[in-house]
Amino acid sequence: MYFKSLTLSGFKSFGKTTVFEFPSRITSVVGPNGSGKSNVVEAIRWVLGEQSIKSLRGKKGEDLIFNGSDKAARLGKAEVKLIFDNSKKQFPYEFDEVIISRRVIRDGTNEYLLNGSQVRLKDIFQLLSTVGFGSTQHHIISQGEVDRILWASSRDRQEMIEEALGLKEYHLKKREAERRLGETENNLRQIDAQIRELRPHLKYLGAQAEKMKAVEEYRVDLHEKARLYASRESIFLAEIANNSVRERDPLEDESRTKSAHIKELANEIARAEKSFSGLVVKDAVKLKLTELDDRRRMLERELGRVEGLLSAGVGSKDSDVSVKVIIGELRDTLFFVKEIADKDSFEALKSGISDIKMRLEKLLRLSVGERDSVGDLSLEKKKHEMASELHEIEMSVADLHAQREETGSVREDTLRELREREHDIRTEERELESIRTKLRALDFDGEKYKARNIELANFIRDLKIDGSSLLDIEPFEGDSDRAQLMRQIERLRIRLEEAGGIDGSIVKEYEDSKSRDEFLTGELRDINSAATQLKALMRELDQQLHEKFSEGLKNINEEFSALFRSVFGGGKAKLTYVAPSVNDAGEVIDGGIEIELDVPRKRLRSLDMLSGGERALTSVALLFAMSTVNPPPFLVLDETDAALDEANSQRYGDLLEQLAKKTQLIIVTHNRHTMQRAGVLYGVTMSGDGISRVISLKLEEAKEFASEG
Ligand code: ATP
Repeated sequence: MYFKSLTLSGFKSFGKTTVFEFPSRITSVVGPNGSGKSNVVEAIRWVLGEQSIKSLRGKKGEDLIFNGSDKAARLGKAEVKLIFDNSKKQFPYEFDEVIISRRVIRDGTNEYLLNGSQVRLKDIFQLLSTVGFGSTQHHIISQGEVDRILWASSRDRQEMIEEALGLKEYHLKKREAERRLGETENNLRQIDAQIRELRPHLKYLGAQAEKMKAVEEYRVDLHEKARLYASRESIFLAEIANNSVRERDPLEDESRTKSAHIKELANEIARAEKSFSGLVVKDAVKLKLTELDDRRRMLERELGRVEGLLSAGVGSKDSDVSVKVIIGELRDTLFFVKEIADKDSFEALKSGISDIKMRLEKLLRLSVGERDSVGDLSLEKKKHEMASELHEIEMSVADLHAQREETGSVREDTLRELREREHDIRTEERELESIRTKLRALDFDGEKYKARNIELANFIRDLKIDGSSLLDIEPFEGDSDRAQLMRQIERLRIRLEEAGGIDGSIVKEYEDSKSRDEFLTGELRDINSAATQLKALMRELDQQLHEKFSEGLKNINEEFSALFRSVFGGGKAKLTYVAPSVNDAGEVIDGGIEIELDVPRKRLRSLDMLSGGERALTSVALLFAMSTVNPPPFLVLDETDAALDEANSQRYGDLLEQLAKKTQLIIVTHNRHTMQRAGVLYGVTMSGDGISRVISLKLEEAKEFASEG
């Protein structure tokens, strides 16, 4: 038993709160026309979420609220409350009762409550679907709608059958899976597009990052090689500096010694030269000797002439003699001039010219009258004077010769000594030069290595080598060794310079893009597998639906056929599934359930040809067949028996009783056969105030409301 009670407050004709209890498997509602019985059925449909006001015989929500009458005021609100028994927990709900309420207020406000809490319509539907109560509401048959299933399109009929078979759930699941698959495929496309957009960039970044990695390797390699170079070079230069000091010191000592010695020798030479130049001064002796010699020769000639004159008796005052004397003097002077002209010494020329001057003065005197004095001169005296002068000259010459001889030997000694010293000094100077050459070579080397030291310092600075990181290592073995390493370093530097354009942030960007790509690829994989799972689920659901539908349809057909035959006393009734198809125009033709009937003794071409009673019987047979195969929690039937004759009413009653074993029935009826089967009978009446009222009836009382059937 599902339905426990139904309370109507202000709903349509129920202007006063009215409660229906449902303690029996079959509850019948009876009463005169227009008393409000159908309003009860509509109240049930409405509280369960009916959205079509039209199907509730209204235009708007307000039409469901008690509108008042001459004797009763209209109300502002309609409320219906349906209490389900949930002691067996058919609803997945902890309470023993599930109370669904719906109310509408005149301003149009419409609300649902579940056990007193306001909920959404969706929540109500979700709850009802758990007990197989779906939106087709095939188990609430309103008045005049008993043959709804016959008139319905084959597609709608299929839906009703599926709902009756409890397959709605599979459809919902399938629809949900379809929706999720749609979303998934949408995601798939989006992610695929993102990946496709990212990939070329990632490829570019990858190549760049690869380059950066190579650059990093170059950098490390360069740093290592540079460190090695700096280490080996600095040790090499340090050794060179040490060696240079070691070589230079003795050379400098030697150079100093040699220089001092040379200075000493030079001093000696200077001294010797000085004394030698002193000896040169004494060469005046030689000049004097020449002078004396000249004078002597002149005196000897004069003496000879005087003696000649004396011997010729000259000494008289005779003018002829004087002329002869002058002529003789002139001849002598001429001779003397000739002699002097041959002289090559300036001093000799000078003294000669002075003699010539004296002679010429003497001649002048002789010629202008000093002849007397000359003539007065005693030749003898002159001879004597000249002789003594000659003697004196010879004495002086002898003296000078002796002096000269002595000076000569000293001079030779000095010269020899000078030459020896000069030889020594040259030797020393040569040696000093060789030392200096060596020192210059060392200087040159020093300059060279100074340059290399500067180069090294620049190298260490430029390549940012930590001085303390230098290795204790063998120096370069040779220049080729060093040059080779330097070439490698240069090559690395060039490579680094060439690669210099790459932005360092690219590696980070690459890593980010890569992980994004991996993430997206993972997503894609997950979504793909989700899509695969969803497709599998849909296939599975399709499969189950197909199986359950085929089986259900088969079972319904068995029941339907049997019921139909029992109602019509023979014939055939069958539901056939027609799959959707595509017509020639390429349009999809809905599939669904077709009904095939074969009424005994009649040839039917269409359902339209059935009488009202036959339609009602066929519908009821189908409805009961459906409800038998998969019993709904309840079945509400509003005058589905209206068109039945006495015999069929009897059969209808039997069917009800059978059906009631499986499902709870709430039946609005005027049929006494039907009333007889009810456990509880409610009579609905309406008095002059236009308000429907309910009373419990005994069967006999109820029969008063029965129509003649
Ligand atoms: P029948 O046996 O002829 O089918 P019934 O008992 O099913 O009749 P209903 O159709 O349920 O009768 O009730 C119709 C009555 O409800 C009418 O008298 C109508 O005036 C009344 N009614 C409908 N809506 C309202 C409303 N909003 N306010 C007041 N009364 C209403």
